[in-house]
Amino acid sequence: MRDFSEAPFLVIWEVTQACDLACKHCRASAIPDRNPLELGGKEAREVIRQIKDFGDPLLVFTGGDPLKRPDLFDLITESVNAGLRTTVTPSATPLLTKDAISRFQQCGVSRMAVSLDGADARAHDAFRQVAGSYQRTIDALRHAAKIGLETQINTTVTRHNVDALDRIARVVGEEHARLWSVFFLVVTGRALAEDDLTAPEYEQVFDFLYRTSLTAPFDIKTTEAQHYRRYVAQQRKKTGAASTAAPGVIQRQAGINDGKGFLFISHTGEIFPSGFLEVSAGNVRRTTLQQAYRHSSLFRVLRQSDALEGKCGACEYRNLCGGSRSRAYALTGDFLASDPRCEYVPSNFAAA
Ligand code: SF4
Repeated sequence: MRDFSEAPFLVIWEVTQACDLACKHCRASAIPDRNPLELGGKEAREVIRQIKDFGDPLLVFTGGDPLKRPDLFDLITESVNAGLRTTVTPSATPLLTKDAISRFQQCGVSRMAVSLDGADARAHDAFRQVAGSYQRTIDALRHAAKIGLETQINTTVTRHNVDALDRIARVVGEEHARLWSVFFLVVTGRALAEDDLTAPEYEQVFDFLYRTSLTAPFDIKTTEAQHYRRYVAQQRKKTGAASTAAPGVIQRQAGINDGKGFLFISHTGEIFPSGFLEVSAGNVRRTTLQQAYRHSSLFRVLRQSDALEGKCGACEYRNLCGGSRSRAYALTGDFLASDPRCEYVPSNFAAA
């Protein structure tokens, strides 16, 4: 397993919180207008320089809708020229034109990710609260496929779409996305607790994802469901796979968690372990990313699996999984507590 004490594998940068959608579960509680306190162009270029100082993490430009920033293409170009693998997650609004998608590719973006939370226009548009959002998403995926730009589809699982996951998976395949990134709810922003699934339901979704992953033409990864890695390891053990580590994307994710191989920068420069764990280790206007990631007590403790409490602290999968620190914080107020949406009980914990 990689050592994440020096550098993150993945940096997510919310370049703006502005967005013309009003999605029901929005982490950022995005609003139409840009915050005047957003990082300016000079500050943004310094952030890119500091990210490059980590080596070669993957940089994701997200929002809000990153296309609400007029200098987005300059920032992408700066990142690509710095040698960073750069991806972008635009919102499906009228700003996401064919021309914008082509410019992503011309600037050197390696993958564009879009959200799909329903299998058809009625379901997806109700979730996004904007008519036409589904068709724009499909149009964007098709244009990207036509010009050879790799795509990813992000889906947030809630009580409203859990029964449609098989149909959403079919769309992911039909639209030739390379990766299906399945987000599990953390009750922050506009997300509602009653929309979340129960721990046993998480396991049912894991079962579906695992079975789908065996034949799907795309990779599957989970976000804020680190225990999917435990589920996959258990299945591989059961079936006698040579290694309990899954191939591909799951293996690359092994051990990554909030603040551990992962860093989030807010639109105003706050340095968070995750966009769903808004506890700050400083602001890029006053400290450096290296200082916050490597040396802050927040990030350091989040990387210590022995500091985990409850079931997660006793679990033999804690280095592979570790549970969602964001969900633990959102639901208990303690980011070292067990993930309340994991039903696994480590044998040594039950015996304690
Ligand atoms: S108990 Fe915690 S560490 Fe173990 S599998 Fe569940 S979430 Fe992961």
